[in-house]
Amino acid sequence: MRVASVVIVLLGLCGGEAAAQSLSLVVPPAGAAREAFQALEDGRYKDADAAFGRALAAAPDDPAILLGAGIAARRVSDTARARELLTRALQIDPALTPASQLLGTMLYEAGDVEGAVRVFDAALVRAPDQAPMRARVEEWRKEAALHEGFRRAVGGHFTVLFEGPAEEDAAAAAVDILEAAHDRVGSLLQTFPREPITVVLYTQQQFRDVTRTPGWSGGLFDGRIRLPIRGGLADRREFERVLTHEYVHALVHSVAAGGVPAWLNEGLAAALETGGMDRARRDIARGPVVPLSQLVRSFSSLPAAAVPSAYAGSALAVGEILDRAGAPRLMGLLADLGAGADFDLAFLSWVQMPFADFEREWLETVRAANPRR
Ligand SMILES: [Zn+2]
Repeated sequence: MRVASVVIVLLGLCGGEAAAQSLSLVVPPAGAAREAFQALEDGRYKDADAAFGRALAAAPDDPAILLGAGIAARRVSDTARARELLTRALQIDPALTPASQLLGTMLYEAGDVEGAVRVFDAALVRAPDQAPMRARVEEWRKEAALHEGFRRAVGGHFTVLFEGPAEEDAAAAAVDILEAAHDRVGSLLQTFPREPITVVLYTQQQFRDVTRTPGWSGGLFDGRIRLPIRGGLADRREFERVLTHEYVHALVHSVAAGGVPAWLNEGLAAALETGGMDRARRDIARGPVVPLSQLVRSFSSLPAAAVPSAYAGSALAVGEILDRAGAPRLMGLLADLGAGADFDLAFLSWVQMPFADFEREWLETVRAANPRR
């Protein structure tokens, strides 16, 4: 037997931080299981997913293989199957903490906070020294307590949680706006979320407490869409803009759970939010031009003066990809990147030009529109 060290990264969500957990597994020296773990370690998640399928056919009750298969399924955005595999791994070996971490996180993302708390609590009985898990489950408990008194407005594809009668109109409007966005964005991208989406409407203070986002953030998607109500319907256009923006993030997450560069994710959201492209053409001159290659991570660390032009530039870049390559190729690029593909190779293959050339042309266009250069 050879020991392979497999680094498992519990996937962070856009706007959130990735929690890393490393894990050493004893894997067989040859065969599908060895191949599968190697592909997982190399970040070749499609290959890993296929090899784990073969490994499970030979050893359907091996908890380590079930865990690896669950991680690979999550990376290729097959979330329902990932949850099944992880649940099964934990039935066989309840002390498999990384399986608990990923399953709890995925249940939370799917809106099942109680289920997530249950999985983490059970894991903490066996691994009481897991401080980050303990902190996380305490946050979930607080959030569950806050939401307990909330009411619900339910649409075909969305559940909106809100606090009281004062938000009832805003919640009803949110359902209408989101169902319209589901259809409009869906027909444009030919992509629809695989699971219902939970939306939570907060007061300003609740929103800051729950999300800890920078002051300029108007909403957040971290598995759920979270939105502060600023007079809700008093500014319906802004409410609609932010809701549709966050909906696009939810959609990106459903096809690329492993994450994509921030400029692609924010650019698509900013381009498809209501009035997005007009706003982008206006805002590109509102701050310094930041190259796309410097916008790979979250925008939350950008200086405030660079935020509007970073969104605008990203939206214009995504608009350019849509014009050049079309929506199916853009979605293919997102899915491949979410599944761990090399960025430059995936970009070349889906957009059919090298990214460096694309970025150079994009820079010329946005600089021409930006007097500050
Ligand atoms: Zn965003």
